[in-house]
Amino acid sequence: MIEYFNTIPSLHRTLIIVVGLVVFSLVESAAPLFSLDYKRGKHALINIFFTLTTIAVNFVLAFLLLKTSDWVVAKEIGVIQFFDLPLWLFLILGLLLLDLIGAYTAHWVEHHVQWMWQFHAVHHTDQNIDVTTANRHHPGESVIRFGFTILATAITGAPIWLIMLYQSISVVLSQFNHSNIGLPAWLDKIMVTVFCTPNMHHVHHHYRQPYSDTNYGNIFSFWDRIFSTYTKVDNDKLVYGLDTHMEKEETESIVELLKVPFKPYRPHIKYDKPEKL
Ligand SMILES: [Zn+2]
Repeated sequence: MIEYFNTIPSLHRTLIIVVGLVVFSLVESAAPLFSLDYKRGKHALINIFFTLTTIAVNFVLAFLLLKTSDWVVAKEIGVIQFFDLPLWLFLILGLLLLDLIGAYTAHWVEHHVQWMWQFHAVHHTDQNIDVTTANRHHPGESVIRFGFTILATAITGAPIWLIMLYQSISVVLSQFNHSNIGLPAWLDKIMVTVFCTPNMHHVHHHYRQPYSDTNYGNIFSFWDRIFSTYTKVDNDKLVYGLDTHMEKEETESIVELLKVPFKPYRPHIKYDKPEKL
């Protein structure tokens, strides 16, 4: 496994995304969480465009990740390099740290730093959340997230095989937790103790604060519990999208979406009455 992820070809990494999209789309058709009333083809087209730009950004910058990883391993820098750990612990601790820094923290920061939010807002403008939403990231956000992956690699001390393994799991989990899949309640209850399920992550896509500022996790669900950003609501009451960006002319146009981060900042709407979901 280490050998495989050390030299995983770009084609295989792209295949993971494609297979995930196909498999979760099929499950969405068979067991939807909501019967969303939208044109799946047109919706997918926009999100697949942003998936391709995400792949392109990661492909162009990949050498930086490889250099960082080689450097921290050679210098024995980073948490998992510091201790003499057995392989299983090295692997688990590495995945935990990469998810905490590269996904949970990155996501939290994107919600709290205005210029980063301007980019991340594009992800939230989707008014129909399904598997294709997972990689609906403005190319600028893909660069920001790449920066966090570099930071996570340096702090963790992760070798390249571990980063590739992490990214493969991360892509599939993101597709899973964005999918419009209605898991049986008992299964969701078991899974959500460790992993972010669709039920958990969809709350994050509610159109209003404070719900959109909860459930930031990607792979592991317990970061949200540990850092008090976890919410559980009645998912039937969720409305997807972003209250500041609800016009379809903007949210369903690739050109307009590309411009979103460069338009004047739209502050979050403050409501008189707190909403109870
Ligand atoms: Zn978000």
